[in-house]
Amino acid sequence: PYSGPSAKEILSKRLQFLSPAVFHFFKNPLNLVDGKMQYLFDEKGRRYLDAFGGIATVCCGHCHPHVVDAIVNQTKRLQHSTILYLNPAIAEFAEALAAKFPGDLKVVFFTNSGTEANELALLMARLYTGCHDVISIRNGYHGNAAGTMGATAQSSYKFNVVQTGVHHAQNPDQYRGVFGSDGLKYARDVDDIITYGTSGHVAAFIAEAIQGVGGIMELAPGYLPAVYSSIRKAGGLCIADEVQSGFARTGSHFWGFEAHGVVPDIVTMAKGIGNGIPLGAVVTTPEIAKVLAYRSYFNTFGGNPVSTAAGLAVLQVLEKENLQQNAMTVGSYLKERLTSLKDKYEIIGDVRGRGLMLGVELVKDRQLKTPAKVETLHIMDQMKEMGILIGKGGFFGNVFRITPPLCFTKDDADFLVDVMDYTLSKM
Ligand code: PMP
Repeated sequence: PYSGPSAKEILSKRLQFLSPAVFHFFKNPLNLVDGKMQYLFDEKGRRYLDAFGGIATVCCGHCHPHVVDAIVNQTKRLQHSTILYLNPAIAEFAEALAAKFPGDLKVVFFTNSGTEANELALLMARLYTGCHDVISIRNGYHGNAAGTMGATAQSSYKFNVVQTGVHHAQNPDQYRGVFGSDGLKYARDVDDIITYGTSGHVAAFIAEAIQGVGGIMELAPGYLPAVYSSIRKAGGLCIADEVQSGFARTGSHFWGFEAHGVVPDIVTMAKGIGNGIPLGAVVTTPEIAKVLAYRSYFNTFGGNPVSTAAGLAVLQVLEKENLQQNAMTVGSYLKERLTSLKDKYEIIGDVRGRGLMLGVELVKDRQLKTPAKVETLHIMDQMKEMGILIGKGGFFGNVFRITPPLCFTKDDADFLVDVMDYTLSKM
């Protein structure tokens, strides 16, 4: 049983001692003290079905025993920096991770977060190409350090500090975008940026395969291959940000970019990679990787023994428990059921996503697509009261984000949709 401080006490300490920027979703924020697979428990032992663990990095399930054992065993044996000495954990995980990539993507750099991974990717692209200009997509999220905040393209996450050299291309948004699902038309904006906004040469293009923070936006078909080709003609590298869409989440593929038939030059990842342990990575080709050898480059904890032991255990669980297939089967079923809710409730404007990375956008008017912001928060809060945790996102904060641990079952999907249905019926 839990004997720590109450949620109220924690909240008051948080208000006093933590940054005022720290936020939480619910009216009465939860004090979560235990986790087990797709479930979370508050201090009173009340159980919640976690349909948003994916964003908070859990891919195999909370406290998955195999991952926990790997972490505990490595911690008991040795935890140290990545630099200076040899350690088997980092080498074994790097090999196993590299095996997950096509083509020449075989060199791994470890970091502690997604932001760090993307900063490193941008740095490498700039060094490799000798160019500075980067193109990212509007509404994307790539991190909050100087370079990545530049690449992030939502005003709510941008502070008014210098973020030079990034151009934001039109979002190939199939729901609100002017060209609907015509990926090639959106891709022309990238050509225009290269022509009118740069010397004609660029360092990189960076994009998520499915925008996560941006509200589970799937890029219009045909967009990525066309853009990759334009970027390469302009001498740039193509970076795939797989922080959210990687590690089997989209079901059909292990990496989100694979669904678009492209092979990036650099891939970045974090979140799911360590099932909750701080870990990120950049994977690239031997040729591009060389640019970091011209100077001293290191990351004290990136790829430390404990984090990489966790990473290796995650890959083993994904394989052994067939979680990519599960993401596909359960995700498709869940999407189908959510889509049938759309037929029942006018407020649901769009249901989208792939595998266990799904979004439900709420609008006050289907024609005008007016964001139903207040309603989104209200429903999330009500669903929490009934034992289900979902997330929200999108520029207007009106999109439910459903990204559960990949062990989510069909019964869990039914429970989620039934509770959402009931909540919507009471609006
Ligand atoms: N890229 C994407 C696609 C993300 O969703 C996030 C985090 N939401 C990041 C990068 C940054 O990761 P971190 O918060 O670990 O720095």
